[in-house]
Amino acid sequence: MKICVMGTGYVGLVTAVCFADTGNEVTGYDIDRGKIEMLKRGEVPIYEPYLKEMLIRNLQLKRIFFTTDPEEALKDKEVVFIAVGTPSKKDGSPDLRHFWSAVREIKRFSRAGTIVVVKSTVPVGTSDMVQKKLGRNFKILSNPEFLKEGNAIEDFMRPDRVIIGGDDEKAIEVLRTLHLPYVRTGNPIIVMDRRSAEMTKYASNAMLAMRVSFINEIANICEKLGADVESVRKGVGSDKRIGARYLFPGTGYGGSCFPKDVQGLIAMAESKGYKPLLIKAIEEVNKRQKEILIKKAEAHFKNLKGKRFCIWGLSFKPNTDDMREAPSITVINGLLKKGAVITAYDPVAMENAKKIFKNKISFGNDMYSAAEGAEAVFLITEWQEFRLPDFKKLRRIMRTPVIFDGRNIYDPKELKKEGFIYYGIGRLA
Ligand code: NAD
Repeated sequence: MKICVMGTGYVGLVTAVCFADTGNEVTGYDIDRGKIEMLKRGEVPIYEPYLKEMLIRNLQLKRIFFTTDPEEALKDKEVVFIAVGTPSKKDGSPDLRHFWSAVREIKRFSRAGTIVVVKSTVPVGTSDMVQKKLGRNFKILSNPEFLKEGNAIEDFMRPDRVIIGGDDEKAIEVLRTLHLPYVRTGNPIIVMDRRSAEMTKYASNAMLAMRVSFINEIANICEKLGADVESVRKGVGSDKRIGARYLFPGTGYGGSCFPKDVQGLIAMAESKGYKPLLIKAIEEVNKRQKEILIKKAEAHFKNLKGKRFCIWGLSFKPNTDDMREAPSITVINGLLKKGAVITAYDPVAMENAKKIFKNKISFGNDMYSAAEGAEAVFLITEWQEFRLPDFKKLRRIMRTPVIFDGRNIYDPKELKKEGFIYYGIGRLA
């Protein structure tokens, strides 16, 4: 099948590469020249496991192409995926500028009969508006994406489910066929109307974000009452009705999706005069949680002025270099504001972090050099390489042995034995 994917960011690139891998001819289109030039050379602008290998393979097999020319990208394509960014505006509602500009390009260059698949996360009713703008000659489907950064290829190739929103049977069949190689183990393709498909995406992300905020709130209450959230979450999560995933206490959620989509859902509800009490609380709990390590540091050190701190992990989660809404930004800015001096280390996100912090912080070559002379280490992102540090070495090189474990990955008892003062989230000291 001849496919165009508009937008070669996270979602667009993974979509393009995965569909090329099953034998389709895919053209990735983006307005960002630098990105397209890199992709043509087989270089991947983001860090995502397996993506580069798959890109190179499909470039060599001449199944994937890249262009900044909308006419070349859209001409003679049977299916066009819109996967451009839909970031938040100041009021929390999604900014659809890029989205509508992509729709205009489709109107100009795509042939009648083209199937237009909305993969970007867009407010409920947007795909219906696309149908109105493009007219009956185009077949519009909603196909929200549920991949997780850091595990994106695996998620695309083995999705829990594929959601297709639309009413054109032939178009639905084409999209179903494209996904068949990825649902061979019986994971369902669920067909519904376009608005429900769009809403499913917002509801899924709000639910996941709610679990994170829920366990963070429970952790904070545990701390006040002398209970250990690590035991509590295991006890709660082993109830089959609840499940253990997305119940890990920490420094709050970040990334390009949860914050934006929770805010988007609030904005949609409020635009219709509905007050979404629960969804608003998810956001508020998360904002407070991002500050929690700063509060713990202040309680321990009293005055943070001139204190040297080390940060382990900058990306919003492991296995990605994505810094969007990363809790590390809140923690670092908060500590800087109180006069602390920061050295940070992250296995892949330092280049992106340098763009955000400029010369306000310094960076270590590895996890130990960043901790040299530090009065505390703050573990913010639980990359594998941070899980089993050489605590003896760490103790030797740090000025004072204090650890703020923002993801509860260390054993408080073991750290105590090694001579550290340990602070986790909602744990017994
Ligand atoms: P991104 O910011 O990484 O990439 C968006 C890309 O679109 C950029 O490369 C940009 O240059 C390009 N673009 C902008 N305007 C364009 C135009 N008119 N034509 C062609 N390209 C254009 O975004 P992303 O993280 O891939 O997200 C894309 C969409 O998918 C968003 O709606 C997002 O909410 C949703 N989504 C993201 C994830 C995720 O984990 N990142 C997961 C599920 C859904």
